Amino acid sequence: MAAILPPAMLGILGGGQLGRMFAVAAKTMGYRVTVLDPDEAAPAADFADRHLCAPFNDPAALEDLAKSCAAVTTEFENVNADAMRLLAKTTRVSPSGDCVAIAQDRIVEKAWIAKAGLPTAPYLAIQSVEDIQVELAPYLPGILKTARLGYDGKGQVRVSTAEEARAAYANLGGQACVLEKMLDLQLEVSAIVTRVSATQCAVFPVAENIHAGGILDESIVPARIKPALAAEAQSMALKLAEALDYVGVLAVEFFVLDDDSLVVNEIAPRPHNSGHYTLTACLTDQFQQQVRAMCGLLPGRTDLLSPVVMVNLLGDVWKDNGGQPNWDVLAEAPNAQLHLYGKKSARPGRKMGHFNVMAATADEALDQARALKDTL
Ligand code: ADP
Ligand code: MG
Repeated sequence: MAAILPPAMLGILGGGQLGRMFAVAAKTMGYRVTVLDPDEAAPAADFADRHLCAPFNDPAALEDLAKSCAAVTTEFENVNADAMRLLAKTTRVSPSGDCVAIAQDRIVEKAWIAKAGLPTAPYLAIQSVEDIQVELAPYLPGILKTARLGYDGKGQVRVSTAEEARAAYANLGGQACVLEKMLDLQLEVSAIVTRVSATQCAVFPVAENIHAGGILDESIVPARIKPALAAEAQSMALKLAEALDYVGVLAVEFFVLDDDSLVVNEIAPRPHNSGHYTLTACLTDQFQQQVRAMCGLLPGRTDLLSPVVMVNLLGDVWKDNGGQPNWDVLAEAPNAQLHLYGKKSARPGRKMGHFNVMAATADEALDQARALKDTL
């Protein structure tokens, strides 16, 4: 397919921080951007040429996108996959509605991971109450996760006994869930693939991810694991993208177990919070890759220019200070880059921004990043 070149109009479903950083990348490259998001204060609107302020399944807005955009992508997995399939009749859409539908449902997602020949945690798919009336010991202690709409640890309950698991399932209203065995994690890592076609793929360096309260807190790159293990995570992520015949940016989260084996946790059909380090530390960042993939351009180079640590800035930092955090030290640190998403209200747990710190080693960057966070 012919490449889509500037100043073509590109569309994105969703105008949160990922849509905002996509818009910055696209505008920088000379494209024009239309954002569809029902929120008048959508962070991406600051950088978009057009903001269609309408629900994601609004027929007129979708028709507008289809007509006005040379290509359309998404910033989140919970868009209506059928809306994406509909758009694909008239314009180029990546990733496909089918891939987005897979990432929307943990049961379908895990089946695809297995189909690609990759390991998951032992799990039980629970579509209805009969499915949980089996021997649960292989999955306990475990985590009951809703199949759909979970993020940042939401929709998850930790359970130790079969009784607890069944009660938690009932508490979640009997919706489809997976019961996943709780694994002993050495650490968590992620790999982000850009796939334009079978022969045009790139993968970013593996990030080591530290979570706090179910939300990503820090990403450390390069991950402090053996290089061979990082290479294995990269090749597993590429294999998954291949199995899905994926076009676009695909993030793959892994668990590293104590025996140095890798288990695929989940995927995201878009740029990922753990890839924000690429904004500072790679020649091509993950949002530029998203633009390139949707336009049919070759992926850009992904090598790491320097060890880097990304720290998420959640709304809690604002609340603790009763107003704006103290930016004075961080804003002036020569090896740090502050990114704020332009969100007006800072609720606890809300992703308000992040900062990247580059240093000679990952450990040094981590020490400096933590010291900088303490100044806020
Ligand atoms: P979310 O969609 O909220 O990111 P995840 O499935 O990635 O959901 O779970 C969030 C976090 O919970 C993971 O990053 C990990 O720290 C922990 N977790 C999830 N599943 C397991 C598991 N099977 N064993 C151990 N820890 C887990
Ligand atoms: Mg996750």
